[in-house]
Parts: sequence; C-alpha cells; structure tokens
Amino acid sequence: MIKLALFAGDGIGPEVAGEAVDVLKFLFDYSSIRYEIEEDLIGGASYDEYKKPVTERALKIAKEADAVIFGAVGGPRWESLPIELRPEKALLTLRYDLELYANLRPAKIYEELIDASPLKKDIVRGTDMMIVRELTGGIYFGQPRGVFNMEDGQRKGINTLVYTTKEIERIAKIAFEIARKRRKKVLSVDKANVLECTELWRQTVSEVSKSYPDVELSNMYVDNCSMQLIKQPKSFDVIVTTNMFGDILSDESSMVAGSIGMLPSASLNGKKGMYEPIHGSAPDIAGQNKANPLAAILSVAMMLRFSLDMDNFAQAIEKAVEKVIQNGFRTADIYSNASGTKLVGTKEIGEAVIEELKNNKNK
Ligand code: NAD
Repeated sequence: MIKLALFAGDGIGPEVAGEAVDVLKFLFDYSSIRYEIEEDLIGGASYDEYKKPVTERALKIAKEADAVIFGAVGGPRWESLPIELRPEKALLTLRYDLELYANLRPAKIYEELIDASPLKKDIVRGTDMMIVRELTGGIYFGQPRGVFNMEDGQRKGINTLVYTTKEIERIAKIAFEIARKRRKKVLSVDKANVLECTELWRQTVSEVSKSYPDVELSNMYVDNCSMQLIKQPKSFDVIVTTNMFGDILSDESSMVAGSIGMLPSASLNGKKGMYEPIHGSAPDIAGQNKANPLAAILSVAMMLRFSLDMDNFAQAIEKAVEKVIQNGFRTADIYSNASGTKLVGTKEIGEAVIEELKNNKNK
C-alpha cells in the first residue's frame, strides 16, 4: 500500500495540487494500485484553524508517508505575523524535520513554449538540465550567525559557510545517480578559487566521482556558471552545487522555461521526498481558475520516479503534458496568441492531461 501525504496549502496551492492529485488518482485507479492519501492543512490555512503554520499531526502524517505532495503557502493575510507563525515557516520545518537535503529542480524548454522564454530561441532550444541543490546545510544554516554590536558602536553581521565531507558526499552521490539516468554529465559549481569550504566541496565531489567512471565530471566557478546559463543553457545536464549557489542558479535557470508555472521540484532524503511546484501561492490569481497546474502535475511525475520507483508512470505524465502543450492548450501564463493555441483554465488543462493519459492507455 502506497501512503502519501497531501498539503495543498494556500492561494492557488489547492487548485494546482488538486489537478496533480486527480492525475495521480487516474493512473493508480486505472492500474488497480492500492494507495491512501492523508491530507492536512498547512501554512496560512493551518494558522487560521490551529494558530500554527504546521501542526504535530501534519508532521506525523509527513513522517509516516512514503512521499509528500505540497501545493504552496503564504499570502498577504498572514504577512504581518511574527516570522515563526508565518505560512512559509511550515515549508522550512518540513524540509528540516524530514532532513530533505537534496533539492532537484529540472529546467526544460518545450519547443512549443520557446516564445515564452525571454532568451533568444536559438539559445534556449534543446535546453534540458537538472539542478541538484544542497538544501539543509551551507551558509543558510552555519553557525555562528546573527547581527552583533561591536565595541566601537558599529554593528557586525555574520553568516558562516560550512560543509562536512559527509554532507558533500551524499549530495554528490545523488547528482551522479541522476546523471546516470540522463546524459551522464555532472558539473559541480563552486567558488574554490576564493572559499576554502568550496575547495573541500570540489575535492570531495571529485573523490565521489571515482565510483561513477561512466559519468563525466567537470567543475566551474559560480560566477562563470551564471554567465554560461544564459549563454549556452543547452550545454548543461546535471549541475550540483551548494545551498546558496543552487538557490540563485535555479531561479536563473527557470527563465529558460518561460513560466514559473511549468517548473516542478523534488526535495529528497533517500527515497523519501516532498514534491512541489517551485512557485508560490500566487494570491493575485487565486480562486480564479487561472493558475497553471503543470508544474504541480510534473512534480507528481518526479514523485513517481524518485520515491515510488514508477518510472513508467512518470514518463507517461511527462509525455501527456508535452502532448497537451503540442495540442495548443495554454493557461494565461504561457499563452501567446500563436495560431493553434487555446486559452484554458486550471481545470481544463488538468483534464486535458488526464484525457491524454486515457488516449495512451487505450492505444
Ligand atoms: P508567486 O510564485 O506566488 O507568484 C509570482 C508571479 O507568478 C505572480 O504573478 C503569479 O500570479 C505568477 N504565478 C505563480 N505561479 C503560477 C502558476 N502556477 N500559474 C500562473 N502564474 C503563476 O510568488 P510571490 O507573489 O512572490 O509570492 C506569493 C506568496 O507565496 C508569498 O506569500 C510568498 O511568501 C509565497 N511563496 C511560497 C512558496 C512555496 O510555498 N513554496 C514559494 C514562493 C513564494
């Protein structure tokens, strides 16, 4: 029996997660796979009900599940709350408590959406990369940290970049394993010319690579990488990097895909994972059937691949999404008035994906 947790959250979270779960249920029901999905409030919705962004019960559900499906959290209603009570705290608590140290963010351009990218067509065409970002270490977590008063009356802000070999080894292994299922190239991104900590990163990744002779490893400094991502995005396969560099580079890479509504993500600890679109709760379009659910649907495909070993289902969803785009279905964020395209809502594009899966099953 497959056990899943569902935290749809706030704003467009329930709309996009709803479509993703419908796609998943269709596949499981069609194939008579036994599963249960336990749902709970999270983020602002949880605060409204329980005065906490995440409850002990929700954490228990997440810990007991094989994988977690997450929508999005946040919104203006909760912005003035103290930081510990804000919806976004739920996301950080889940990542931390489940020790989800590997964040996977694929960025791929669909030929039909090439006009949606701000980059030139010839540059983005064919881009298909995976950023593997370390998620629970590095400068976002290192101690000491804080802002301190100095004796001369100035103040001093401190954050600490720290990585142990164990932390680097485990994220490097994930990158090499993923590369094996792709084009067998890993690029490790660091700032080893200036930062000793990332010199250790480079050495450790290189050590790990000895166990993966079939995968080609190269290294790049982060400043150069940010340039190459714009200059020749299609040259990248798997990028592995630290928490902060990954945070910045993955947002940069998302621009090749045109819309934030197209980009899924996985946060993993071994097989256990949390799967969510990279976007937020989009309060400006919430409740209007306007949100693009394809990122959430593609996140479920990642869950099938990485947590449930159901690569065939993952591929079926990815192919169905591709076909739906080829067939001209567009939510507003990816609509460009090109001939053969049709502006549709969240529900309609979600249903089109299920229709496509049905067509393929009947072939
Ligand atoms: P956002 O990602 O919610 O929205 C940015 C822009 O992209 C908006 O114009 C929105 O309409 C559009 N957009 C986002 N997702 C879309 C989709 N699926 N389809 C079509 N358009 C889409 O970012 P924001 O506006 O900066 O943040 C809104 C709230 O979400 C804030 O409270 C923020 O803290 C929170 N947030 C949550 C997460 C998360 O839950 N993982 C991530 C980022 C932001």
